[in-house]
Amino acid sequence: MARTPAVELAPGVWRVPLLRDFVNGFVLRDDDGQVTLVDMGLPGHGQKLLAALDSIGSSPGDVTRLLLTHAHPDHLGGAAHVARETGLGMGVHADEADYVRTGTEPPQEAVGLLGRLLHLVTPTIELEPIPVAEELVDGQLLPVAGGLRVVHMPGHSPGHVGFLHEPSGVLVTGDAIMNPVGLRWSPKSVCSDFRMCRQTAHRLGELDYRVAAFTHGPEVRDQPREKVRRFLVRHGFGG
Ligand SMILES: [Zn+2]
Repeated sequence: MARTPAVELAPGVWRVPLLRDFVNGFVLRDDDGQVTLVDMGLPGHGQKLLAALDSIGSSPGDVTRLLLTHAHPDHLGGAAHVARETGLGMGVHADEADYVRTGTEPPQEAVGLLGRLLHLVTPTIELEPIPVAEELVDGQLLPVAGGLRVVHMPGHSPGHVGFLHEPSGVLVTGDAIMNPVGLRWSPKSVCSDFRMCRQTAHRLGELDYRVAAFTHGPEVRDQPREKVRRFLVRHGFGG
């Protein structure tokens, strides 16, 4: 397997590009070497994420916690493999937990005729049921690498969250706003409630962070908060 280099975002925090920069997983490491993984990509990406640990001097045996921003197949698809390899269950927001447990996708808006057609022709990815180890709530501070804050932003899916690593100021954004080629909203057709997705994204403009680590697209290190705020204001959400 081709070696996947991890991109260091801050001391103890890495992004692992799983499908170039379009699909990302994240690694956080405690001072004592314990490793937390956030999002595991599409089916097949679990192997890639675990293999990337080698490039930062860790191994799958160091992993003690698995977290998900939400239960879409490009975040959860690789999780079954990782769960099997590590013997761990997922940490996911309480409103998302049943999708993980049952291997079902969160509801999506079928937007207009085109949206409904897309849903019909899009091959559905079979998701395996995966055990949930912990149900997360908004504002919870997880004992991960010095403190990882759960930020609930429902809409993209009911239990969609971002994670703010408070010691370093790295924010794993989740999918409300993506950065594939510049900032943009997640596609309406994959959201449970697109209006709510945009409304709750205002939290991305209010949090204090130094690196915006997008789940889709490369990170923004130069004035990320200002760029996100400008994006929100331009679209009438914020200011
Ligand atoms: Zn998503």
